[in-house]
Amino acid sequence: MAFFVVPCYNEEEVLPETSKRLKEKLQQLISEKLISEKSRILFVNDGSKDRTWFIIKELHHSDPLYSGATLSRNRGHQNALLAGLMSAKNYADFVISLDADLQDDINAIDSMIEKYYEGYDIVYGVRSSRKTDTFFKRFTAEGYYKFIKLLGADIVFNHADYRLMSKRALDDLSEYSEVNLFLRGIVPMLGYKTTSVFYERGERFAGESKYPLKKMLAFALEGVTSLSTKPLRFITLLGFVIFFVSLLMLIYSLVQWFVDETVIGWASVICSIWAIGGLVLLSIGVVGEYIGKIYLETKHRPRYKISEFLNS
Ligand code: UDP
Ligand code: MG
Repeated sequence: MAFFVVPCYNEEEVLPETSKRLKEKLQQLISEKLISEKSRILFVNDGSKDRTWFIIKELHHSDPLYSGATLSRNRGHQNALLAGLMSAKNYADFVISLDADLQDDINAIDSMIEKYYEGYDIVYGVRSSRKTDTFFKRFTAEGYYKFIKLLGADIVFNHADYRLMSKRALDDLSEYSEVNLFLRGIVPMLGYKTTSVFYERGERFAGESKYPLKKMLAFALEGVTSLSTKPLRFITLLGFVIFFVSLLMLIYSLVQWFVDETVIGWASVICSIWAIGGLVLLSIGVVGEYIGKIYLETKHRPRYKISEFLNS
């Protein structure tokens, strides 16, 4: 049995079309006997403020193919997705997660399932191009992936959260209890046989992105701090370098004093004060980021609460 898991936040504009297309896909796969008749499409309502949950409930009552879960409040994309994956794994042999806005080409699902039957536990949907993204998004995304790689984390380039995961991979994922959730960084840690299928990423079908710049930046920072402690190591190294430079400065100023030219170099003094002050603040900031994360993790607060679950 298979489950499609779709997190939805204020998606009333796209849901009618998304549900229709996913149902066609599910029925096609059932008729090809690739998945069982009990397979379901699970929409997870992430505390939407619009009619999203109402639409999901209607879909469920109109056709048992549709399942629905609603979270008690907005928890963010990653937690909504996790809620869906963890619920679906109780029923499914494998789960495919995708966005509600039809940007992920659902025809790639066929090849994902093919790979699953070839014995792969995790199949990543990878964008073969980013034509529909703005130059800014492409540029920052590429820089970000490179940065994360540099930090030693293993993430799949041009892959977001469109992927197939087997039940046993999901069981393993459930043991990662971190509050600061960055799924695309954790999934590659699970191991197993993995592969990718490529697809063209389209435009959002309707509505607006639910990831404004502010959320995107927070998410990017989440990725760094949840995958790597190298920035902390970098600060230590930086400290050493600056200490070494200050020794050189000391020798230099002693020599200057010796040859009796003590008042030159006002500019260099001011510049170093600002530069070092800035670096110190930045470093405290980075350390603070990690301490903040530790603080949140030690509370062990629940990552989501499902307040209603509809499944037949
Ligand atoms: N989403 C969510 N909770 C949020 C924000 C987004 O469940 O707080 C869902 C959203 O409904 C969509 C997916 O996450 O299905 C990806 O969001 P979006 O397509 O807006 O992001 P973009 O493609 O612009 O990066
Ligand atoms: Mg989108």
